[in-house]
Amino acid sequence: MSTQTRVLVTGAGGFIGSHLVKYLKRLGYWIRGVDIKHPEFDETAADEFELLDLRRWENCLQATRDIDEVYTLAADMGGMGYISSNHAQIMRNNNLIDIHILDAARVNGVNRLMYPSSACVYPEFLQEETNITPLKEEDAYPAMPQDAYGWQKLISERTCTHYREEFDIETRIVRFHNIFGPFGTWDGGREKAPAALCRKVAVAKLTETPEVEIWGDGEQTRSFCYIDDCVVGLHKLMRSDYQQPLNLGQDRMVTINQLADMIAEIAEIEISKKHIPGPQGVRGRNSDNTRLRQVLNWEPTISLEQGLARTYAWIEDQVRVKLGR
Ligand code: NAD
Repeated sequence: MSTQTRVLVTGAGGFIGSHLVKYLKRLGYWIRGVDIKHPEFDETAADEFELLDLRRWENCLQATRDIDEVYTLAADMGGMGYISSNHAQIMRNNNLIDIHILDAARVNGVNRLMYPSSACVYPEFLQEETNITPLKEEDAYPAMPQDAYGWQKLISERTCTHYREEFDIETRIVRFHNIFGPFGTWDGGREKAPAALCRKVAVAKLTETPEVEIWGDGEQTRSFCYIDDCVVGLHKLMRSDYQQPLNLGQDRMVTINQLADMIAEIAEIEISKKHIPGPQGVRGRNSDNTRLRQVLNWEPTISLEQGLARTYAWIEDQVRVKLGR
């Protein structure tokens, strides 16, 4: 009989899920991928892929059958434009997905479950300046996330913790800080800032119109973590015995204006930034990686410049095809 660990990746048709499946396959796991859609930009690397709506309990039972470990990456998700204007839908869909997959995992005797939370759980009152103090895990309380998306993540973090304490299932909780890279949503309204800016710069380059729109004054700050580092960290945390929420991101903070300039430099064009009204999220955010280093004896290593170069190249290709150039 095979002793290969059987892993379920939910959201395997999405950005982080599809990259994680590839990484875990290389490590030798057997993988079932589940999503409501196939990966948009690539073939799945999963051994088995099922189209299932995980808001439904019976579909979660089907997804978790004969599974040892689950990475729950399925969510109704998007960038600032999406999460700041779909509060009820995000609450409804993500609460249904999260509770059903966790409880189905318990019923089916899954050993371990990874829950992807977000830097969006941190209180708005700690993120009102551009040059903020990096956020430590314990800063999440007293809780006051900016959007329903962050509140929902906090509730699911706590649900995972109580399931671990009271039922026979190990849960791990990661708080991602702006993961980016190729093979992710880059247009249509759900894209996040790095992908949106790569697209805008690519359009500027290919159409020779140098104006690039930026939401707000562009002085809002964030840190950005490349996808290849993200999947390594996710797997390390899953294998660790650490049971509390853990930041996973880079701790180099840049403004959105700087991010746009870095992408323009990679594209080898001059841009003129046009600042327009738009959702900006919190004013400043950065990850404190002290605990990440302690717990995993590791931290992300791929620089923002390297990650953006790979992401921009892929998005420029997508834009070129779309524009027929
Ligand atoms: P994504 O949107 O690319 O992937 C999510 C996937 O979930 C999609 O493929 C979507 O089709 C699927 N999904 C949505 N509803 C579903 C349903 N009812 N049943 C089955 N599948 C469904 O997003 P992502 O960037 O890969 O994010 C993965 C996880 O990480 C999410 O929980 C997200 O909240 C979290 N996260 C991501 C980031 C980031 O920077 N990308 C930051 C913080 C947290």
